[in-house]
Amino acid sequence: MTDRNDDLFSAARAVIPGGVNSPVRAYGSVGGTPRFLASAKGATVTDAAGREYVDLVASWGPALLGHAHPEIVAAVQEAAARGLSFGAPTEGEVELAALIADRVRFGEIRPIERVRLVSTGTEATMTAIRLARGATGRDLLVKFAGHYHGHSDGLLAEAGSGVATLALPGSAGVPAPIAAQTLVIGYNDPEALAAVFAEHGPRIAAVIVEASAANMGVVAPLPGFNRLIAETAHAHGALMILDEVLTGFRVHPAGFWGLQAAAGEDYLPDIFTFGKVVGGGMPLAALGGRAEVMDLLAPLGPVYQAGTLSGNPLSVAAGLATLRLATPEVYATVDAASARVSAALDAALTSAGVTHAVARAGNLFSASFRASEPRNYAEAQAQESFRYAPFFHSLREQGVALPPSVFEAWFLTAAHGERELQLIEGALPAAADAAAAARP
Ligand code: PLP
Repeated sequence: MTDRNDDLFSAARAVIPGGVNSPVRAYGSVGGTPRFLASAKGATVTDAAGREYVDLVASWGPALLGHAHPEIVAAVQEAAARGLSFGAPTEGEVELAALIADRVRFGEIRPIERVRLVSTGTEATMTAIRLARGATGRDLLVKFAGHYHGHSDGLLAEAGSGVATLALPGSAGVPAPIAAQTLVIGYNDPEALAAVFAEHGPRIAAVIVEASAANMGVVAPLPGFNRLIAETAHAHGALMILDEVLTGFRVHPAGFWGLQAAAGEDYLPDIFTFGKVVGGGMPLAALGGRAEVMDLLAPLGPVYQAGTLSGNPLSVAAGLATLRLATPEVYATVDAASARVSAALDAALTSAGVTHAVARAGNLFSASFRASEPRNYAEAQAQESFRYAPFFHSLREQGVALPPSVFEAWFLTAAHGERELQLIEGALPAAADAAAAARP
């Protein structure tokens, strides 16, 4: 029987490549018809056929406070009434930049003195790399296999997220000379890091790293690895770009960097990138760092970057409202919800006899169908991923929406209350049984 989602998917495929505007939404790796969402409120999303789901996607991260939080919606409505876009500086963007700089601190350590607002995480990382190249006068970039930093040319080599879901080594359309500027090494591998710097050190502009990998499933950095990246890069005159697009303002008020600093692993990245939560569900992202580096951006410096919609007033209003509402209590609520769901996931898969490991990084987590937590991309790929589709569909039929790929993190929000948590806990055992019964 077809429903409104099937009709819309047919219509979408006639006018949109694959029927979607971002590849993982097409359900390619889990099969079936994507749910076309009509509305979302709190922890619930409603599809085009009127079916409700407890949501564990949270728009892939931004909805820290749940969907359509009334104060965030009101802030956006108020901003909209004053004008949709000016292409001129506004008071709100000054407040947001100052708030970002203020939040990302550990004691007296404040690594962000200047912030530039852009519209997507892709733009933030792309600009951070150009800035690192401009600052060092070098070309090469080191990235880690399985890390996703958006879809700019140089960053699609062995990338995570949709590139991993589609099992692509990279992307067609990236000129070989551009791909050759990116050196891809294994994650959590100190020897590979030392080796790449030993061979190419004087030509490396920067190392870019997800603060914690979460686009090949969650793969936390081994203790000391992020600090080692900072030390190694700095010893060779290169910069460290810490990509907090996914983790920033989600796992801790000061991001994964703040979480690590609080746990005793302090290090100083040169450029941070943010997205998702910082825009509260609107198109907004940012990069930040110390003045000496950031002031190389135009108009002060020679590194060009611009955007018609950069610092868009509606996006800024959503970002400001979100960060102001993101109190320590919000993080405590999300952390507790995440601990509860990840424990229930672990227990359900164990009872069903499914070989698995639940990996956590702050309040982010995911399960992989292998005996131990993956430490890198090769290990993340070496799992019985065929078990994910029946697991995913069982949960969906029971009214729980998971990310449609085994290579994505699960996202809880502050709006997941007792009712939603119980619904998820109640649905997990049958889903685990479906995973156990799966055959390749
Ligand atoms: N960096 C990381 C760590 C991400 O997770 C993402 C998106 O998922 C990006 C960059 C790209 O952000 P956007 O999709 O807003 O371009």
